[in-house]
Amino acid sequence: MPCRLTVQFLFEPLFRMPQFTPPNVISYLADPAALLFLGSGAEVLLTRDPGGPERFPTVAEVEAFLPEMAGPLLFLGTLGGKNCVGAQVPAWPKEPLPDRFFTVPVRHVLATFPPGECAALCRSRILIQWKNAHRLCGACGQPLAGSQTDMGLICAACGARYYPQIAPAVIVLVTRAGGNEILLAHNRKFAAGLYGLLAGFVEAGESAEEAVRRELREEVGVEVKNLEYQFSQSWPFPNSLMLGYRAECAGGEPRPDGEEIDSAAWFTRETLPTIPQPGSIARRLLDEWLLEDQPATN
Ligand SMILES: [Zn+2]
Repeated sequence: MPCRLTVQFLFEPLFRMPQFTPPNVISYLADPAALLFLGSGAEVLLTRDPGGPERFPTVAEVEAFLPEMAGPLLFLGTLGGKNCVGAQVPAWPKEPLPDRFFTVPVRHVLATFPPGECAALCRSRILIQWKNAHRLCGACGQPLAGSQTDMGLICAACGARYYPQIAPAVIVLVTRAGGNEILLAHNRKFAAGLYGLLAGFVEAGESAEEAVRRELREEVGVEVKNLEYQFSQSWPFPNSLMLGYRAECAGGEPRPDGEEIDSAAWFTRETLPTIPQPGSIARRLLDEWLLEDQPATN
């Protein structure tokens, strides 16, 4: 059997949130000292004190130069005793940001920040996109308002309730040859030369394991066995929960479907192409495999 090494990753599993405590009710908060998770598109605002590390700014720090941002802030929870609020702006200001403020891709935060900040950022993005898409009741068309007792939005006119939506998706690292080879694919949306793991959304009525088998069958014509759940990650692009699996090839040579996948092949640790950057569950599944010992020969 391969020896599984315990590895300390920069990117800690998000299911361990030792500090971040989400509330059970969506509410608005006016706290100038609150940590602000301010995003635009796939970027987020950070700051840095002279000689210090990158950090999320407070509401007061940002209001000083972006007063229009003070619009509705979404209360996300508390982190190390500090309130956390989220906001999203359609675009960053045209004029340059003050000296020590800058924007980075959300993926940069997911790759380098502690799990508490990552969780708060993911929560902010998922809840804001959900609230923006649920201004009116889908049943009767009347405005929705936040519930005082739980995470829901309620229609005062007809009583319909709406709750934050998370879209489960599976991602799988498939091995063969005793774990020495893995299946990687190039998605048409990827940069040239970048190969990743096969992934897809869980469909209605389907288990996560069935989704793994279906995606592999549909996208590359490969059958798998010995599925093993590994870990999960919130993936706020816009609202996924990625469920990471390992599986062994049970037959079939990769045949890309030509629609989503235009190239797929088996790779060894020595022949790896460009793989996803740290911060993604794909990279974490790959890193764990890369660090495994070779199987014993007897
Ligand atoms: Zn209604």
